[in-house]
Amino acid sequence: MRNRLVIGNWKLNGGLAQNESLLAKLAADVDGRIGCICAVTVPFPYLSQAKSRLQHSGIAWGSQDVSRFESGAYTGEVSAAMVAEFGAKFTLVGHSERRVIFCETDAVVAQKFGSAQRAGLTPVLCVGETLAERDAGLTEQVVMRQLDAVIAAQGLAALVGAVLAYEPVWAIGTGRTASPAEAEAVHLALRQHVASVDAQVAGDLPILYGGSVKKSNAAELFAMPNIDGGLIGGASLVAEEFLGIWAAL
Ligand code: PEP
Repeated sequence: MRNRLVIGNWKLNGGLAQNESLLAKLAADVDGRIGCICAVTVPFPYLSQAKSRLQHSGIAWGSQDVSRFESGAYTGEVSAAMVAEFGAKFTLVGHSERRVIFCETDAVVAQKFGSAQRAGLTPVLCVGETLAERDAGLTEQVVMRQLDAVIAAQGLAALVGAVLAYEPVWAIGTGRTASPAEAEAVHLALRQHVASVDAQVAGDLPILYGGSVKKSNAAELFAMPNIDGGLIGGASLVAEEFLGIWAAL
């Protein structure tokens, strides 16, 4: 049985005092459930705080990005091994904001995926199409291209123990959510794509949905057979919302 996950993405938000209050509420209320994982991905400077506040809770933590490099003259970069030193379990790779705003290519994302795994982190590979791509009927072509870049660089076996997140760009931070049926169609296509090479790997791969998930719409999304949880942006900053989403898993 594959894991089900709710992962928060704080993006460029937070502050020591604000985090303290949010992490305390989450640590107090997130219950342990077999096969279900709750995690938050925080800005790099807050990894230490996440570790000290969450290490005895049922919540894991991680980063929102890692360098594709391991060490050297790469000013401003943070390696996967550095993130792992703070007890992190996860890192996002290829979030659409990284792809679009910071011009990360499929090839760079694939390198980051490999770096994360070599450091012992679980990469959460984000894929998703823009509105223009969806309107042009290119959704499946785009998400398969993004996934195939990782498979080509790291091998299909690299998906074992990894997490995939389908996040339509037009639904991120916009308040507009893909309907459960729209999201399920893409999740099923992604799983079938992997299954065409290895059914076991496909069956074990958690595929999360991300894009304006709230406690009010989480349950209907999570009820879909190929939606194994959510990657949550804005709503992960509000304890009551995030806990409501976790309860819906
Ligand atoms: C995200 O940042 O991955 C995300 C899904 O954001 P939001 O939930 O705010 O749409």
